[in-house]
Amino acid sequence: MEISVIASGSNGNCCLVEDKDSSIMIDAGKSMLEIETRLNKLGKSMENVDAILLTHAHQDHISGAGVLSRRYNIPLYMTNEVFSKARNKLGNITMKKFSVENSFKINNLSIKPISTSHNTSSCGFVIGKFGLFTDTGKITPQMNSIMPKLNAVLLESNHDVDMLVNGRYPAFLKKWILSDQGHLSNEHASNFIQTRGKKLSLALLGHLSENNNTPQIARRTFENLVKRKIEYSILSRDQLSGSWKI
Ligand SMILES: [Zn+2]
Ligand SMILES: [Zn+2]
Repeated sequence: MEISVIASGSNGNCCLVEDKDSSIMIDAGKSMLEIETRLNKLGKSMENVDAILLTHAHQDHISGAGVLSRRYNIPLYMTNEVFSKARNKLGNITMKKFSVENSFKINNLSIKPISTSHNTSSCGFVIGKFGLFTDTGKITPQMNSIMPKLNAVLLESNHDVDMLVNGRYPAFLKKWILSDQGHLSNEHASNFIQTRGKKLSLALLGHLSENNNTPQIARRTFENLVKRKIEYSILSRDQLSGSWKI
């Protein structure tokens, strides 16, 4: 299986998960042109994408999804709740519904939605031994129980708590980000990997905040807290991060 991170951050998210028969995109939160250009740099094409899965209806996860779905005739998989929030932005699309309680199949791949905790209905996904969990204010029981089974994870490492608390964001925004419906801090992410990532060989830390984090601080936190030998990468907010085979 190959994981390609096309974009990760509060300015856009898009990840491609491929095995020899299937190609699944998770979120499409950049413009069509940007996603096409970045895929091309990896020698990949939207033509081969079988499905786009949406984690939730925020703009940084869906902005390119409707256009890509129409242009390439790709079905968009989402929950009813996400559809009702996003339908105006997505436009006319082929929608496939799933519910967070139930796994479903695309080609031969089993997709397991995993509840996350955000200020809107949201989920992550487990495909094979890879899990993607971003946009969650806390580690949910579902994330906690699946983590020890995973070999690779893309996990949110959104902010450094001190930078956020001492930064310029208005109080209501700080409060939301720090809440159980907000975003995971660097400490949250690294502690989760250390305590529950017993089989992990790859950790991709993503959805970094522009104002309340730096790649250096996220890296230092990971190296201080994670005592296992795990390949890891801090995903770029600004450019294509690359591909990893798992
Ligand atoms: Zn987001
Ligand atoms: Zn979000």
